Amino acid sequence: MHDFKYKNNELYCESVAVKQLAEKYGTPLYVYSHKTLVDHYRKIREAFRAIKPLICFSMKANSNIALCGILVKEGAGLDIVSGGELYIALKTGVAAKRIVYASVGKTEKEIEIAIKHHIFLFNVESLPELKMIDKVAARLGRRQTVAIRINPDVRLKTHKYITTGHKENKFGVDMETARGIFMNCSRFPHLNICGVHIHIGSQIVDSGPFVKAIEKIAGFIKELEQNGVNIRWFNIGGGLGIIYSNERPQTAAEYAKAIVPILKKIKAGVILEPGRFIAGNSGILLTRVVYVKETAAKNFAIMDAGMNDLARPSLYGAYHNVLPVESASYRPSSKLRSYDIVGPICESGDFLAKGRKFIDLKQGELLAVMSAGAYGFSMSSNYNARPRPAEVMVDGKHHRLIRRRETYNDLIRNELR
Ligand SMILES: *Cc1c(COP(=O)(O)O)cnc(C)c1O
Repeated sequence: MHDFKYKNNELYCESVAVKQLAEKYGTPLYVYSHKTLVDHYRKIREAFRAIKPLICFSMKANSNIALCGILVKEGAGLDIVSGGELYIALKTGVAAKRIVYASVGKTEKEIEIAIKHHIFLFNVESLPELKMIDKVAARLGRRQTVAIRINPDVRLKTHKYITTGHKENKFGVDMETARGIFMNCSRFPHLNICGVHIHIGSQIVDSGPFVKAIEKIAGFIKELEQNGVNIRWFNIGGGLGIIYSNERPQTAAEYAKAIVPILKKIKAGVILEPGRFIAGNSGILLTRVVYVKETAAKNFAIMDAGMNDLARPSLYGAYHNVLPVESASYRPSSKLRSYDIVGPICESGDFLAKGRKFIDLKQGELLAVMSAGAYGFSMSSNYNARPRPAEVMVDGKHHRLIRRRETYNDLIRNELR
């Protein structure tokens, strides 16, 4: 599944010992495997070969310009959610015609810039947004292609913060509203309203909810066609789950097998927006033990990485596997002790993992927080005035910095006294 493996009891990324990367670039450090990244993109592309969809990598999972650039070179388009992501996307050299733009709060300015750059598609989330895009397109003398994001109202067994497709979420419009928009397209003369978009949530491990939502929408598309509305694009979003601990997510091939037959029955071209599936297991967060603190209640390994570097555990209670970089001390006879792996930040919610078993952890020891390639760096912050970590891309035996470690000066760069 990924290219982080032990050789002689030492963790490697492809052909590079990660310990060497820690020494060269310092910690905390995000390390990515080029091979794992590209492999996951290709897995999706291959699985859907029969229908040749437009695959747009969801940049919010990881918006590093080099990482996105690698995917663009492989043929991916990009799924953006802000003017900032549009800016980075364009810098990767992606063709604007392969950019799709979702977000419930696109501002007039963001819309204008995106239209000026000739992006392919807006995934529209509300009626006032539709009016705004029509207005801006009119001003620019253009006719903009849009898809309507429909909330298919399916329930999921994933974390409540990462479900997006049932009626209590802020995303998309309900089916009735969508019907009204499609039946009255002429009210928006500067829009070509020819797409339907769904994105039902994230870290979905079972294809059941996807099938349910896609079937529902496919039926809706057919109904529209019977009423003379031609739907050219069906954007089915992202959301594919990955392995963090003992999940058994559907593979890309299983996912495709479940949904391609439904998609083949409609004429619309298909768009996919995977984020986590492509980037998640291609990255780790490398961090060093600053102190081992033993208390009456617990053992703590206090790391040099915290919730500002990787927010998922604090934010969602998310599980990330944590591995020792050097496991030479592991023997069947060794005694395991339980540790909370915590950060240096002044918050009790600042942890990376809880109750994990290790042979005595030592000050200075390196740990790898696995599956940190998606929603890792992209959600990082400077909380506690901590410079954000560096990022490194490994390709075979080569490695290169793809983001410099922030300096203290970066922390005040935009501040005025
Ligand atoms: C976040 C998001 C995605 C990507 O989700 P993953 O779970 O990372 O695949 C795709 N589409 C939209 C609209 C999103 O908001």
